[in-house]
Order: sequence, then structure tokens, then C-alpha cells
Amino acid sequence: MTEESNPKTQIAWVPEFIYVENRFEPNHALVCDAAGLIVKVVEASALTDEKRINLPRRAILPGMVNAHSHAFQRVIRGRTEYRTNTPLNQQHRDSFWTWREMMYSAATRLTPEDIYDASRMAFLEMALSGITAVGEFHYLHHAPDGSPYDDPNLLAQEVIRAAGDIGLRIALLRVAYARAGFQLEPNPRQARFIEADAAVFLRNLEALAASVRSPTVREGSAQQPGAEESRTALPHGRASDTSWIGIAPHSVRAVPLNYLKELIRYANQHDLKIHMHVAEQPAEVSVCVEEYGRTPLALLQTEDLLSNRFTAVHAIHVTPKAIASFAMTGAMVCACPTTERNLGDGVVPADEYLKHQVAICLGTDSHTQIDLFEDARELEYHLRLQKLERAVLSVRSPTVREGNAQRSDAEESLGALPNGRASDTARYLFDCATVNGARSIGAPGGALAAGKPADFFTVDLNDPSIAGASNDDLLPAIVFASSRAAIREVVVAGKPIVSEGQHLRQEDIVERFNELQKKLW
Ligand SMILES: [Zn+2]
Repeated sequence: MTEESNPKTQIAWVPEFIYVENRFEPNHALVCDAAGLIVKVVEASALTDEKRINLPRRAILPGMVNAHSHAFQRVIRGRTEYRTNTPLNQQHRDSFWTWREMMYSAATRLTPEDIYDASRMAFLEMALSGITAVGEFHYLHHAPDGSPYDDPNLLAQEVIRAAGDIGLRIALLRVAYARAGFQLEPNPRQARFIEADAAVFLRNLEALAASVRSPTVREGSAQQPGAEESRTALPHGRASDTSWIGIAPHSVRAVPLNYLKELIRYANQHDLKIHMHVAEQPAEVSVCVEEYGRTPLALLQTEDLLSNRFTAVHAIHVTPKAIASFAMTGAMVCACPTTERNLGDGVVPADEYLKHQVAICLGTDSHTQIDLFEDARELEYHLRLQKLERAVLSVRSPTVREGNAQRSDAEESLGALPNGRASDTARYLFDCATVNGARSIGAPGGALAAGKPADFFTVDLNDPSIAGASNDDLLPAIVFASSRAAIREVVVAGKPIVSEGQHLRQEDIVERFNELQKKLW
């Protein structure tokens, strides 16, 4: 008997319910090996010699993936909620652009240690809310005066170190930022971001890739045949299970077209994930039209820069026609509704994306709140307010909704629930927070199945926010109503990082963050 198939070395997590294959299974166990991979999900009665961890009144769900984060922005939470008096605000109208000035005032002052402390705080809160992997859209590279540190990736390394301390998996999406914008003078407050040409950016990216490449494939892990081979062939993206890199051209505003093309070519060659802010603000769209005669989505598409490794972050100010073409490329969208509502960005037309089967993932972005369930429910709620309609995001096909007898594949797989209920909106939103997020940033988790990592969280079925839910109502109760207090255990690669709602290093992290805030403000 090999070690990995020996039940004595395996751990069986035995809750009341496990969310597997889109439903909650009662009386099942999640069995993991010593390497932190899921061996199987079986009926609890079939367990033999595994070490049991009983979790009465708990449900296990796959860990959530936060696909868009700027960790350092945690320091400005609560500090931008007032009307400003700046040259940008001549009509007494605050916006994303006036908020950005306030954000820059923090971004220009943080030391490497501050960035580590702020990132730890953001990642701690993510862990406490059931997130097990994060895509960090990282654009602070240099010292405040714009001079590179001796290690050009010093700040990226601080962010990766912070994620490692918390126990989160991290995709460090290294940001390229070349200019203030079309026909704009350089902005000294962006000096920390700027790498003026693609060659410099790619050299620094490769250095970062080399440093996260070290951990090797674990022995005895339940990998697909050939997985190791493909990793050797992909030296940059997926060398480590806990941290890896991706490419993030900041936006069409900040990265001119030729630079952008070089980055995309490189990412495609090396199979790296690509994330980019797209159409967050109407002004970004109009300036792009001025510069290129095309909207950002049209520019990306006509230049053949979109693919299934591309995630467009926000993608709010787009037309239905552009969405139809975007869908053909296999690219996906990352919505950040708690930030988008805070900044007055607009509403992601998720119903149009769904209609064209564009996958959406979720991000907490500016960390005005860190609660991916809130982002999930807002994706739906913003559309309800806009359309005066309920259950807008339904995976039932439009033809079914219009009375056609034909059922979609997605609806078929929902199965029939008692009383005719089908919690398809909750399921759609939870997929955005899990499988779609994992796909977007290239994380190994997203679902609970054999061979996947044991990345999961538990909810307390007696928590007042969800108490009384039946098996069938549990997912909508969790997605639409759970509070963070309901989340009790969070496990990454089989190892608990949160137990009984607490992280082991929580006190120290919060204390250091309090000190940082006192120093900054
Ligand atoms: Zn962002």
C-alpha cells in the first residue's frame, strides 16, 4: 500500500453537509492526504482508519477566490467618505477621480514594511471571510520618488510574504504602468508605478518569476499525468502552488498600445494570466476613443489581444454588441461590486454577460469592505435596482424563462428541487466567487473534488444569520444572508489557517496595523 492510499495517513473532515457538485450532501466526509489534496468525498459510513475531524452543525464549502485586490488600499478604508475640495471637484461632484487623489496620498507614503503590514491586514480579513486565494493587482514598485529599490520587486515580495503569513494562495499580478494617460503630463504621484518601457517591465517580471519558482512539485500528490512536465515547460506562471505570477497591464489609459501588445505576446508565450482594468469609468472610454478611435473593448478585440487567459476587470461601460464580440474570445470579467458602488463606477451588466456565457469572477478591489459574499449578492442586487426585477441572474436559459419547453444544459444539471424551487441564482453567484475566480487567476482550487487541493471553509449552521435553512435553502441563505461571524474554519492545502473564527496571528497583525494607521493619519 502506498503512503497516499493508506487511510491511516489521511484526514477525514466530517461536517453535517459538504457542498460538492453544486449541492449540499449530508453525512459525507472530505478525505485529504498529507500533501493537502482531496483524495475523495465519500459517505461518512464508508470511512475506515482515517483520522476523523468531526464538525457537528457545520457545512463545508470550497474556499472562495478573490480575483482582484489592491491590498495596500486597506489603509484608506473609511478615510475617503466625504466631499472633497480639489481642482478635480469644481462642480462639487466627487467621483472615482477625486477618490484616486486621496488613494495616491496614501500610496506615495508607504514604506516596504508598511505595505507588508497593510497587506497582512487585508489578507487576514480575506481569510476570516472564507477566501483561500487572492489575485493581487500589484502596482507599487518603486520608492516614493520613483527610484527603483535594489530589488525591483521588493514591494511585490512584501505582499507575497504577507499572503504566506496568513496562509493564502496568491497570484501576484504584476502591473505595467507607463504613463498618466493620453496626452497627459507625467503625474509625480504615479512615480512609484512607472516602468516606462516593456523591456524593463518584462525584465523585472522575469526576476519575480524566478523568485517564486522555487517550490517544487510535491511527491505523492494526486496530479494529472504530465502535470509536472507542463510545469517545467511553463517556468513563470504555475511553478508554485502557493504563489505564482501573472501580467496586469493597468489599463488602456496607462499602457500605450505597442507596450500592451508586447506584454500580451509575452503572456501568451508563457501561458500567464492577464488582468487589466477595462471600462471602469466613462472618461476612460471617451479618451480611448479619442486616442484610438475605438472603445477599450473594441481596441482589445480588434488588435486580437483577448483570449481565455484574459480577465477584464470591471468592464462596466460597454455595449451589448461589444459584449457579444467579447464573448467569442473566451475572455472573462471580474466584477467588484462593493468597490464599484463605493466609487460610483456604475453597474456591471452581468445579465448581458451571462446571456453570452461570459464567465464573471469577483474581487474586493479597494477593500472598502472585504466580504466576497457581499460582492456576490451585489452583482445581483444592483441589477434588481436597475431593472425593478428579481432573480435577474438565473442560469435558466432565456428561452425557458419565456415559456419555451426546451431546457438548457445548465438548467438540466440543476435538477428538480422540492416545491419547484431551484436556487440557481445563488449557485450562479457562488460559482462566480469560486470556480470562476480560480480560473481567472489560475488558482488550483475552486471546487471540492478528488485531486483538487483541500481549500475550504466551514459555516456554523446555528449562526443567527443562516439558522433554520434547509438543505435546499442553505446556499441561498449563505450567499444572500450570511455574516462573517458564520465562517468558523478556513483550511488551505489541508491546513487550518482560521479556527473558531480566529487566525492564529490575528492579534499581532491587528496591533501592527493599528500602529501603522496611527503613523499614517
Ligand atoms: Zn482595481
